[in-house]
Amino acid sequence: MIELSGAREMLAWSRARRGEGRRIGFVPTMGYLHEGHLRLIDRAREETDAVVVSVFVNPAQFGPGEDFERYPRDLARDRAAARDRGADCLFHPAPDAVYPRPAVIGIAPGPLTDHLCGPWRPGHFEGVLLVVAKLFHLVEPDVAVVGRKDAQQAVLIRRMVEDLHFPVRIVVAPTVREPDGLALSSRNVYLSSEERISARAIPRALAAAHAAYVSGERAAVRIVETARTVLDAADGLDVEYVELVDAEGLAPVVTAESDQMLAVAARVGLTRLIDNVLLGPGPDGDIRLAS
Ligand code: AMP
Repeated sequence: MIELSGAREMLAWSRARRGEGRRIGFVPTMGYLHEGHLRLIDRAREETDAVVVSVFVNPAQFGPGEDFERYPRDLARDRAAARDRGADCLFHPAPDAVYPRPAVIGIAPGPLTDHLCGPWRPGHFEGVLLVVAKLFHLVEPDVAVVGRKDAQQAVLIRRMVEDLHFPVRIVVAPTVREPDGLALSSRNVYLSSEERISARAIPRALAAAHAAYVSGERAAVRIVETARTVLDAADGLDVEYVELVDAEGLAPVVTAESDQMLAVAARVGLTRLIDNVLLGPGPDGDIRLAS
């Protein structure tokens, strides 16, 4: 595995691989890699011939008072994990390589941030789209793999790529969970053992709402209410939102249908966690009930 930190070096490496007839797969991350990230590498490997993993904690997507400074970082561990999983290139640019000067031009996510995390994290998705656009230009991937755990982000990236004709195919990979259902996240390291127990209510709430849908409930308010009841019963959980939205436009729905998304954000102590489940018989149908 080669390791690169310069913008020009990255682009040169990628173009050289393409010159050899290899297709480039790309997994953008903020590091502190866990099994969820590593499955994205597996998926990129299946789809392409040379896999680039980026590790970059993007300052532009953190708001004032958010956890940019304390976000967990461990490059040595990430290097070993990416290499062992078969990545071909680890790209960990310094902030100056990505932001040689402050960007004046941005990408507006429009109404796709009217709901879910958008209102709670002003400017966050503008920061995400800015860095993803930059990274796509530095890596020039054929395929980029992102996780459905960050579903709003995945929708926005896919839409940006379509609307702006980026020549890259976006693959959205399923959420990887702990045995008790909690979605893997670099931020889980912040949780104390009590907070970790409280956090289990999130997958439990999603599972309860999913079960209500499967057993015939079609009123969105009642499905949302089912999830909220589970969350409200948990100690130490401060719910930001529970919304049932259509999976493309991310607007709340009245009548539940398969493939809509029930999404939750909640704070456990200082840690903000998000998760979601797709309604219906798809792969999320087996979301586990936390015990
Ligand atoms: P992050 O490092 O948290 O910015 O995440 C980098 C990529 O990994 C994003 O595409 C995330 O959606 C994805 N990801 C994070 N956690 C998970 C998970 N538990 N399962 C699948 N993908 C994940």
